[in-house]
Amino acid sequence: MADFVANSLGSFDAGQIAQRIQEIREVLPVSVQLIAVTKQVSVAAMRAAYAAGVRHFGESRIQEAITKQEQLTDLADVTWHLIGHLQSNKAGKALEIFQWIHSVDSLKLAQRLDSLAAQHQLRPHVCLQVKMLPDPTKFGWDEAQLLADLAALDECQHLDITGLMVIPPFGLPDEATLDVFKRTHQLAQTIQQRSLKSIRMEELSMGMSNDYRLAVQAGATFVRLGRTLFGDRAG
Ligand SMILES: *Cc1c(COP(=O)(O)O)cnc(C)c1O
Repeated sequence: MADFVANSLGSFDAGQIAQRIQEIREVLPVSVQLIAVTKQVSVAAMRAAYAAGVRHFGESRIQEAITKQEQLTDLADVTWHLIGHLQSNKAGKALEIFQWIHSVDSLKLAQRLDSLAAQHQLRPHVCLQVKMLPDPTKFGWDEAQLLADLAALDECQHLDITGLMVIPPFGLPDEATLDVFKRTHQLAQTIQQRSLKSIRMEELSMGMSNDYRLAVQAGATFVRLGRTLFGDRAG
């Protein structure tokens, strides 16, 4: 995955990135955190986003995140979020480099992360990725599965399970997308009411460039924005 630099936009406009960030900030309620999704984005463009006030970066691949972190060690107050599917064999590496993992998508992965976190005396922030509609292109729990796995997840004491993450199926009409977000919010409330000992449902990680307005309307606390800040990715 060293080729992401080659795939990155060759040039970028720091002023334009700053302006887009400013525009997004103006429409986001203060309760919503902006995660700048920087997959395939150059470190120079990431520095421009940082200069414009961004402190949350989201990456979907471990190796790309490592390469960038090595070049951005001076940005000490950045929080790194993993938003892409995590293979079990990379779970240890993910714990080393991300403070948040939004894409915990199976009980097996949660349990693996939990035992590694215990070994390394960590307690990463975690969102559970759900699918509110059947979608073979996405990872994550469906509602019934998640409710069935809750008791076992609640035993993962070394994970700070603090919310849900969702990506609606691509290409839905707005109303259906909004419905996915609202149902995700309701599911979080249902889980909260179960009075589990360590799982809390405070965060809703939902909303990308094309649907973040709908997600905010439904109660998102994190939006994950890439293209609308940095322009279209190559490929
Ligand atoms: C790429 C990605 C985003 C950002 O998508 P944009 O359309 O560029 O805003 C958000 N969340 C996840 C999980 C992603 O993979």
